[in-house]
Amino acid sequence: MHRLDAKTLKRLRRRLLEEKQRILRTLKESLEEEERWGAMTQEPMDLEDWAHFSYSEEMLARLSARELDLLRAIDRALQRMDNGSYGICESCGKPIEPERLELIPWTNVCAECARKFSS
Ligand SMILES: [Zn+2]
Repeated sequence: MHRLDAKTLKRLRRRLLEEKQRILRTLKESLEEEERWGAMTQEPMDLEDWAHFSYSEEMLARLSARELDLLRAIDRALQRMDNGSYGICESCGKPIEPERLELIPWTNVCAECARKFSS
């Protein structure tokens, strides 16, 4: 159980999708320059389509490590939204601070655990 209301979840989901869209659009543009995107896929029409947008590992190899990490974190966050575990710290099981989720919607740990990991 988490205490995020539906409206907040919807807003955070939108931010995750916008970020995913931004990363994949940049990737798509770089691939198109080399005509390697091909028949891969059509561009999703709706923001929500990006949630299930599929990409190959080969495509991802073009991303920087930072963007790759971010994309994976976004996808995991979207999965957690689907299975209802979003907003719960994966390390200690406590709810993640709402302010932290607003700041980093794709985070999977609470502020305290994040501090522990980074030290
Ligand atoms: Zn924690």
